[in-house]
Amino acid sequence: MTPGFTGTISDLGGPTANMYHLNCVSEEIHANCRRLSCVFPTICKNLVTDQSPTTRLYRRARELKGIKRVMIASGLRYDLAVLDPEYVKELVTHHVGGYLKIAPEHTESGPLSKMMKPGMGAYDQFKEMFDRFSKEAGKEQYLIPYFIAAHPGTTDEDMLGLAFWLKSNGFRADQVQTFYPSPMAMATTMYHTEKDPIHRVNYKSDKMVIPKGELKRRLHKAFLRYHDPDNWPILREALKNMGKAHLIGYGKKHLIPPTQPANHASSKTAAKQSAGRAKAGRGKILTQHTGLPPRAGNRPGKAARKAIKRGGKPKR
Ligand code: SF4
Repeated sequence: MTPGFTGTISDLGGPTANMYHLNCVSEEIHANCRRLSCVFPTICKNLVTDQSPTTRLYRRARELKGIKRVMIASGLRYDLAVLDPEYVKELVTHHVGGYLKIAPEHTESGPLSKMMKPGMGAYDQFKEMFDRFSKEAGKEQYLIPYFIAAHPGTTDEDMLGLAFWLKSNGFRADQVQTFYPSPMAMATTMYHTEKDPIHRVNYKSDKMVIPKGELKRRLHKAFLRYHDPDNWPILREALKNMGKAHLIGYGKKHLIPPTQPANHASSKTAAKQSAGRAKAGRGKILTQHTGLPPRAGNRPGKAARKAIKRGGKPKR
């Protein structure tokens, strides 16, 4: 056993948690296959979807001497998982530490088809199984779905649909991801060529919608964080431009209110005020990203702190 190993395996998975040993039913069919994906647009009928090898692997890992906990943190292909309830039960009963992150990435069919991801029907099915097996195991556990803003193929209406899904399901995304073109990704090809390489491309192919530019990217991110008052002004303007001003109001059918909250300070102003209070000894400085105190190197020096205590400005 490696010195310092505590007995917890933080992730027993690969690029995808539940595709271990999944393969085509026949080598000959596999060799002649021209499909781009075995799981998109539908799960291929020739794909063996039995996940019992993964279930057996989990059980073996738990039995090993010195192993206390085995967690699963790799991405889960939940449209496959729902085809094997025994696998989901094993996962939920033994390998979730309170929260399971999964990545539907979007709720709308347009962007989902560009990501080769399953629709929200599979998510709902998986959630129902997750909740049922958690209850049977006597555990209070939650699914944390992740979404992305500004992915190629995403319209403003798609982001609006996603924002309403988040609202109606009571999710308030804290950290959100905005698409960034990275090497070797199909989405990067879409981003640069504005064509959809999932389908045959020729000179007649339609141009794809690509959310580019700072303003558009900020707007798509704002839809994901519709609950943040800092985003309400940009969302109000966008909804009016989209002819959706009726979605501004105080009711359940509305996305955002027509006015800012009383005494609302933007997060930048709030951060400045918080830093000011901390300098005056009336509160802690917490970093915006981690919620933890900043590292010692970022704190004012001893002389500066003395000057602040006296109520003066530190000398530069
Ligand atoms: S898409 Fe179907 S036929 Fe092709 S390799 Fe995958 S499972 Fe086999």
